[in-house]
Amino acid sequence: MRRRLRVPAIVLAVAALILFALLPPRTQQTGPPPASTVRGAFHIHSNRSDGSGSVEAIAAAAARAGLQFIILTDHGDGTRVPDAPAYRSGVLTIDGVELNTTGGHFAASGLPASPYPIAGTPDDVIEDVHRLGGFGVAAHPGSPRPSLSWQDWVAPIDGLEWLNADSEWRDEPRLPITRALFTYLVRAPQSMAMLLDRPVSVLQRWDDLAKTRKIVGLAGADAHARLGSRQGGDPDTSSFHVRLPGYESSFRTFSNHVALDDRLSGDAAADAAGVLAAIRAGRVYSVIDALATPGSLTFTATSGSETARIGDSLAITSDVLLHAVASAPSGTTLVLLRDGQRLHEVTDGPLETNGGKEPGVYRIEAYTSNAHGGPAIPWIVSNPIYAGFTPPPPPPPIPAPRSRIPARTGEAAAEKGPRDTSTVEAAPISEPRARTFAGDPAVHWTFALSPGTPVRQFAAVAIPVSPGLDSFDRVRFRVIGSAPMRAWVQLRAPVGNTERWGKTFYLDTESRIVDVAFASFAAIGVTSSPRAPLDRVSHLLFVVDTMNTLPGKGGSMTISEVGFVK
Ligand SMILES: [Zn+2]
Ligand SMILES: [Zn+2]
Repeated sequence: MRRRLRVPAIVLAVAALILFALLPPRTQQTGPPPASTVRGAFHIHSNRSDGSGSVEAIAAAAARAGLQFIILTDHGDGTRVPDAPAYRSGVLTIDGVELNTTGGHFAASGLPASPYPIAGTPDDVIEDVHRLGGFGVAAHPGSPRPSLSWQDWVAPIDGLEWLNADSEWRDEPRLPITRALFTYLVRAPQSMAMLLDRPVSVLQRWDDLAKTRKIVGLAGADAHARLGSRQGGDPDTSSFHVRLPGYESSFRTFSNHVALDDRLSGDAAADAAGVLAAIRAGRVYSVIDALATPGSLTFTATSGSETARIGDSLAITSDVLLHAVASAPSGTTLVLLRDGQRLHEVTDGPLETNGGKEPGVYRIEAYTSNAHGGPAIPWIVSNPIYAGFTPPPPPPPIPAPRSRIPARTGEAAAEKGPRDTSTVEAAPISEPRARTFAGDPAVHWTFALSPGTPVRQFAAVAIPVSPGLDSFDRVRFRVIGSAPMRAWVQLRAPVGNTERWGKTFYLDTESRIVDVAFASFAAIGVTSSPRAPLDRVSHLLFVVDTMNTLPGKGGSMTISEVGFVK
């Protein structure tokens, strides 16, 4: 060998040696799940938002990875008409949306286009998703980036991502990331799985919530196939990026197994409805395919003559007998957890144990011997079986007012941005929908936001407030609108640079009573106190702005029976 070739050859040989020394273990193979269990990926971004691939290319990648369904969740406000379910490259493609809330991202599916932008607090966003018939999960709840982690654990989320690939990679130190990028060239999914740890605090949250109500856990791919800079977060103007990690590698890293009643029929609409219904019912377990694939798990709990599957509730009539069996590589340990605590475990065999008669939330974590991470990532995580579960009581009805003063609606005045429209008139007495409360004047309000980009367009009705508001704790009114919409009710005080606190409410073409506690009013922008200083409030406002109304849109509403109550 010529001397000038010798050095590069040695360097190459050493690099190859290092690469093979660092390579993650190969994926182990197992027997397949039953034909009625379908494997798929949840939480995917296409080039419609900040992903790099088309829906067609993503479906093709999922087909190569052996998946049967994908659920897309491009960022949006819910106003885009979702694609109808379709088979693409043989993969059932279901369209959803990742919504922004003030408490984190909410990945929703199973809903049609919203008539107005869905945004605001988690409570308001979830109310809209549920009204539209959808289902949503807290996305990347444990993200190390505070702006991305989920903040509101009281809000009625339907589920959470017990695992989110994006969160997992963000919290790794630089050295394992560099190693994974290096070995990615040879074993991509296995390299990505090397970066997964057991998400201890998110699993703890899930276990705590599951003691009070059913809550579905999913593994979120958060697949973008894009690493790199983005200008102002706008995918259309993005500059340099690399298509890493690729969709196919993401889909080969982990998947969600959904147990259907039957096999997929080939009718995309019916199959999508079946997959979403099974996910809502919690008939799901997640598998880290990079460790072993495809894997399968059967987990049941029996009490008396009743047997519950993953996701079910079980009435306790006698001792709860738990049974779990996995199609798994040898050396795999099944761990049974009750209320988040390890109750029983067994290696290389079916798990059978008696859980007694106490209520408990049971789920399975399975560990292969080739798991990595600190603490080790479970190979399989099941959804719970809820034994002796009593559903929480419905929220108490809004109490009837004990005392009331009418708002000064006769003095209502319009306010608006420079190019917006806002017109307030006394509702005609002949208006049959504007029923009056003790003769209070009703307000008929017509508004329109100017078109174009959102630049703080707003329209408002301002009603003066007399001193003494601090003797009351709620505002209550009747409202009917020209279309479904979400508007603000706000309190304004002449403190600082005029501060406001508010809460949004839903209205549509059916007359309804809205009753909002002042305690639920949140600060708008920077205020000198988190709660409205009721003794200093000067105005009650009804406001439409770009948070829940698109620029260029308008409408009208009739507000009556406006009063402060306690
Ligand atoms: Zn997100
Ligand atoms: Zn996302």
